[in-house]
Amino acid sequence: MEPISTELTCQELVELVTEYFEGAMSPAEKARFEKHLEKCDWCKIYLDQMRLTIRTLGKLTEDSVPPQAKEDLLRVFRDWKRAQGTQ
Ligand SMILES: [Zn+2]
Repeated sequence: MEPISTELTCQELVELVTEYFEGAMSPAEKARFEKHLEKCDWCKIYLDQMRLTIRTLGKLTEDSVPPQAKEDLLRVFRDWKRAQGTQ
């Protein structure tokens, strides 16, 4: 039986990214997170960027992802989706 609507959206993934890197997720959340990554190139790129940020700063905190940067990323994502013709 398929669970209802367990798919993570890109926005949810962005919101959860700090918890992912901090290892603060439950195994179920982490599984959803990684399942989304398997089929979403944009989130893979986003995660790579976050990895670079962590490498640069030594750690990732909520403060190291300014709300404006998050907004910019989500806008880039929407444009990218449009360009892919998937929405
Ligand atoms: Zn995504």
